[in-house]
Amino acid sequence: MKTIKIIIAGPRGRMGKEAVTLAANTEHFDLVAVIDHKNDGMMLSDVEGFQSIPNVPVYSNIEKCLQEIKADVLVDLTTPEVGMYHTKTALNYNVRPVVGTTGFSKQDLEELEQICQEKELGCIIAPNFAIGAVLMMKFSQMAAKYFADVEIIELHHDQKLDAPSGTAVKTAEMISTAREVRKQGHPNEKETITGARGADFDGMRIHSVRLPGLIAHQQVLFGSDGQSLTIRHDSYNRASFMSGVKVAVETVMKNNTFVYGLENILE
Ligand code: NAP
Repeated sequence: MKTIKIIIAGPRGRMGKEAVTLAANTEHFDLVAVIDHKNDGMMLSDVEGFQSIPNVPVYSNIEKCLQEIKADVLVDLTTPEVGMYHTKTALNYNVRPVVGTTGFSKQDLEELEQICQEKELGCIIAPNFAIGAVLMMKFSQMAAKYFADVEIIELHHDQKLDAPSGTAVKTAEMISTAREVRKQGHPNEKETITGARGADFDGMRIHSVRLPGLIAHQQVLFGSDGQSLTIRHDSYNRASFMSGVKVAVETVMKNNTFVYGLENILE
């Protein structure tokens, strides 16, 4: 397999660290640079925790990085605002983005799809790279055909910036393809504390739990007369996302289209 030259944005982050390890330990991956708003001009091996990763320059300015370093793929694991800028800039430089950063708006996704079409370049955005989470979403979509009443509870660590999670939104979107828009609960229900019923997505509810100690978890609860069905997925560490990142990096090199969701590239 041809070697894929990779730049990782957000290397000191919890996901970024795992991605650096993945890129360094995968035979046909070559980590050629990282983008970090700190440590500009240093080598990654001089940054604490990365002593064993040689010959990788650190850039704070993505444009400078893309002008000086030849790369195939940008893996972005940062924050929504920065991630959107990185993704657009990578496409402008004909570098294919694989984005794990969550919190992109619908307009952001539409804008990126448009750029990909114009440039005929591949781009993969996946709110969840864990294969088990993708199955949870697919199973939920299947169940929604038979159970129209559904509530999503997503649970994450308390440092997460966006709510609801990208996975919860994606799950709701997938369920919506099988379920008619319908307000759930009693027609006259009233919240005595604002937010008690969670976020409203086409009439179904999404609840976001944030607690230290958690990583990324979600349960989708379906109810109907006399029965309920719960579909649950748990990521216990961030290594759980890396097999999906690997597949996405390999696939984005073969595709010339915009893809939102890992389920669209798994066979
Ligand atoms: P994190 O630990 O906070 O890491 C984010 C990193 O981005 C930090 O190191 C931060 O640096 C860095 N950063 C901020 N601005 C930057 C910039 N301008 N240039 C370069 N780096 C910058 O968060 P995380 O848990 O790794 O998550 C990262 C993203 O992935 C989040 O959006 C999260 O929701 C998402 N996520 C996705 C999946 C998936 O499967 N798709 C799974 C888990 C998480 P500082 O620390 O110095 O601010």
